[in-house]
Amino acid sequence: MSLSDITSRIHAAETAANRPVGSTRLIAVSKVQPNQRVHEVLQTGHRLFGENKVQEAQGKWPEFRAEFGPVDVHLIGPLQTNKVKAAVELFDAIHAIDREKLARKIASELQAQGKSPELFIQVNTGEEPQKAGVIPAEADAFIADCRAMDLPITGLMVIPPVDEEPSLHFALLRKIAKRNGLSGLSMGMSSDFERAVALGATHVRVGSAIFGERSYDEPV
Ligand SMILES: *Cc1c(COP(=O)(O)O)cnc(C)c1O
Repeated sequence: MSLSDITSRIHAAETAANRPVGSTRLIAVSKVQPNQRVHEVLQTGHRLFGENKVQEAQGKWPEFRAEFGPVDVHLIGPLQTNKVKAAVELFDAIHAIDREKLARKIASELQAQGKSPELFIQVNTGEEPQKAGVIPAEADAFIADCRAMDLPITGLMVIPPVDEEPSLHFALLRKIAKRNGLSGLSMGMSSDFERAVALGATHVRVGSAIFGERSYDEPV
């Protein structure tokens, strides 16, 4: 499916939900995709992409930015504290903040670099042990901790369990955001972005529906 097909579907979902058309930002998730495909999407004029690994992003975005000018790139995957400096240098948003040590490190790096990216806290709404994110019962306290360390949080992010109805998780994320006065909702992927838009997503993260299936054994 082309990027413009996805954009049309997002606009239709916004209209159906009585939301302003264009109020959802589409993050084209380019991780692991061949550079040729990413290049094609850049040529259509799209300027917002998502990556889940610092090193992989370092290997492609400086060149694409040199060719195309400013491009917003969001880190949507987990971040290790030893990569925070590089992440703050490269990315316009960090979507998976989920622990105090990481939050502190990001806060001090933002100070040092004078940057103010969008910042999302990942919530593990399904309470899955293998998944990153704070559990819902700890979310309010963690948001307060981040604010206390002068980390300006934009919103919340979720990756629902694969075998559950995502709308329940999107609704829970929205509820936690609302009671904490947070406006950003990073939720919805290739298989469920319209449901996320219906529940108020401000950022959807769509990869394979735009670029095709990811092939992990081909060179990037
Ligand atoms: C890979 C990835 C996506 C995109 O997934 P698709 O199913 O390809 O749309 C979205 N969010 C995160 C956090 C991801 O790692």
